[in-house]
Amino acid sequence: MQVRHVLHSWARILQGYAPALSIELTRECPLRCPGCYAYEPNHLGGEVTLRELSDFRGDELVRRVMELVVREKPLHVSLVGGDPLVRYREVERIIPELIGRGIHVQVVTSAFRRVPEAWAAMDKLTVVVSIDGLREEHDKRRAPATYDRILENVRGGRITVHCTVTRQMAEREGSLEQFVEFWGGRSEVHRLWFSLFTPQRGAFAAERLDAEQRRRVVEKLLELREKQPKIDMAPSALRQYLKPPASPDRCIFAKTTRTISADFRTPVLPCQLGGDPDCAECGCIAAMGLAAVGAYRVVGPVTAGGLFHLSHRFGQLVASTRRRETAHPGLVQIAPEMTPAPDAETP
Ligand code: SF4
Ligand code: SF4
Repeated sequence: MQVRHVLHSWARILQGYAPALSIELTRECPLRCPGCYAYEPNHLGGEVTLRELSDFRGDELVRRVMELVVREKPLHVSLVGGDPLVRYREVERIIPELIGRGIHVQVVTSAFRRVPEAWAAMDKLTVVVSIDGLREEHDKRRAPATYDRILENVRGGRITVHCTVTRQMAEREGSLEQFVEFWGGRSEVHRLWFSLFTPQRGAFAAERLDAEQRRRVVEKLLELREKQPKIDMAPSALRQYLKPPASPDRCIFAKTTRTISADFRTPVLPCQLGGDPDCAECGCIAAMGLAAVGAYRVVGPVTAGGLFHLSHRFGQLVASTRRRETAHPGLVQIAPEMTPAPDAETP
């Protein structure tokens, strides 16, 4: 992470803003992946599901995104879903608008539809394509975004492949090596990222890895990254999978990323996963990357994470003062309920 980026993010935190904003751009997705957190009944807290929300399109969607960005002042915006490419015309308008404001944009998609080649030349854009396992498992789980369709749709592009490792993948001998060999060898693939499946607390999930499987996956990825430089994950971040944040209140990712759902009103809490995720088995790559930064010792026993949590508390005081002074009923309301209170255990 660049020093300039860290300083910018820190300044935002002290001002009471979250440096990252994630927008569930649409409630729609043509896929029905087993284990998808976005369509879990409790993803938005249980009152309403993502598919039941009203969402937007056309000029109205573009307007709402820009209004939200002006209000929240993020440095980084993730467009997620559903699948944001369901609204590809709007996404093609939104990306240059955001980049023009100096914001880094990430589009997370299954690549069920063509990813524009022109996106490959945009420095501040990351296109993340979710590919879960080898062809046989993936095509079963994620049709119609099959391997063949993805290969066709990312031709000439520049993508980051993101694989969520499931129990099924962890159980299959050699699957990680084969995955890295296949996708790492393609010219369109710029980077490889790996998350682990994160279960909801108390829920049965066939994708859930046990502790021994998590340990073996981490060891294998540590080994593979030595051979394949496209695996863009620091060893310290990979090791965090074995000691994830204890709760949302200790999770730097949850506190630095605001997520808003497709109606531009409903917050996704406590983190982008929504519902009641089991932090003890968190497999989120972003959470682990930030946890690794947080574990860094700045001086003596003082860690970057300790400084972050102090700064975040200060920022929340600044934000609550600002909200009192600038309350405006006409604006899209996503704060304060989107941000866990500084000391509270998040629900
Ligand atoms: S592509 Fe993504 S949003 Fe759509 S069902 Fe699959 S995991 Fe869920
Ligand atoms: S489940 Fe969510 S809140 Fe918990 S550690 Fe993972 S990203 Fe953070």
